[in-house]
Amino acid sequence: MVPVFGPIHPGMSDSFDIIIVGAGAVGLAAGIGFARAGQRVAVVGADGARRDGRTVALMETSLHVLDRLGLRATVEEHGAPLIHLRIIDDTGRLLRAPPVTFDSAEIGLDAFGFNVEAATLVDILAAEADRTARLVRIRENAAAVKDGCVTLGDGVSIRAPLVIGADGRHSMVRKAAGVGAKEWTYDQTAVTAIFAHHRSHRDTSTEFHTVEGPFTLVPLPGKRSSLVWLCKPERAARLMALDDDAFGRAVEDQAQSMLGAMRLDGPRGAVPMGGISVADVVAPGVALAGEAAHVFPPIGAQGLNLGLRDVADLLDAFSNGVSDTGFARYRKGRMSDIAFRTHAVDALNRSLLAGFMPVDAARTMGLTLLGSIGPLRRFVMRQGLGSAR
Ligand SMILES: Cc1cc2nc3c(=O)[nH]c(=O)nc-3n(C[C@H](O)[C@H](O)[C@H](O)COP(=O)(O)OP(=O)(O)OC[C@H]3O[C@@H](n4cnc5c(N)ncnc54)[C@H](O)[C@@H]3O)c2cc1C
Repeated sequence: MVPVFGPIHPGMSDSFDIIIVGAGAVGLAAGIGFARAGQRVAVVGADGARRDGRTVALMETSLHVLDRLGLRATVEEHGAPLIHLRIIDDTGRLLRAPPVTFDSAEIGLDAFGFNVEAATLVDILAAEADRTARLVRIRENAAAVKDGCVTLGDGVSIRAPLVIGADGRHSMVRKAAGVGAKEWTYDQTAVTAIFAHHRSHRDTSTEFHTVEGPFTLVPLPGKRSSLVWLCKPERAARLMALDDDAFGRAVEDQAQSMLGAMRLDGPRGAVPMGGISVADVVAPGVALAGEAAHVFPPIGAQGLNLGLRDVADLLDAFSNGVSDTGFARYRKGRMSDIAFRTHAVDALNRSLLAGFMPVDAARTMGLTLLGSIGPLRRFVMRQGLGSAR
């Protein structure tokens, strides 16, 4: 069928240099970056991220990307610095490692990164996108993508030599481009929420490694922290059914009252855990970014940080125009970084769930070595920030 090209709004062109499908953090950041570089960009996707207690810890490489977009200071204003990262072995198993704490000063940084509410980050990016010249927002879902044509809900199509799929884990763009994806699930759900608490978090993110997965409290401004609790789906269902006070007490108990009394400060969320690994990040006329290209559990705050590195590589590959070299460059830059993070997070998560003595021994030894060997600590800290690729 010959696609219909028509004006989206009176006077609006139907052809662009780049179309981005998905107005999440990754799609909006890429849109702003390309428009600033002089490209005519359409970002297709509905407004408004859901507030479900999810925050994102943005590490140094992501802050560089936000800096490039002129948004670093605004994001930092809304977030809290992560100066210390602590891991506590709370598996209760025979082989347990002593607590390990990392300080950003060890690798010459004031902070590893900033923790900000995920929906706030999207709002900041959306407001900037609305102010950006050469960027058109089309606030609806794309229905189909084929040969550079993106069909909108009303059957109207727009076209571009490059369509970027930033449409999340169930990516329609990825499927339409025929890019294979391996998907798997974990017997875990991530419970998210924001808490006000009695004691100061002292700019420290604390990750308790439990036999069901990590239980992590990450600083927010003031005496507030965000929770990411990876646990069995049955436990998650029980936690979600508790009233606010009982939920606060359950979290305080699990945190060993480290932050004193905890009071829920906003909505909660529950996300079933799974992973996606794609066969490629490019296809003819298409590039994938963010969760359209990689999904894994929130351990070590890697997901959106990887997504914003996709954005940085997209901008490097295509800011001066769309070419075969750009596609090759983007693929070369992304495939190994994505594969490394996906495997590392999967291995760490499975090592906690295994309950198998040799795996426990390896994990415990790893954590113990991390606690004591300076160069190894610094190497791992830089890897965690995504800066030592
Ligand atoms: C509990 C939890 C905690 C996390 N913590 C961290 C952390 O601390 N640090 C970190 O770096 N990462 C973290 N992550 C990962 C991070 O949240 C994701 O990597 C990030 O939100 C993905 O952003 P995205 O823009 O790729 O996808 P999404 O946020 O899913 O955005 C995709 C957008 O595309 C839209 N869309 C879908 N289909 C269409 C269509 N057909 N047309 C148009 N639009 C469409 C969707 O509506 C959505 O707006 C965490 C994840 C979880 C689950």
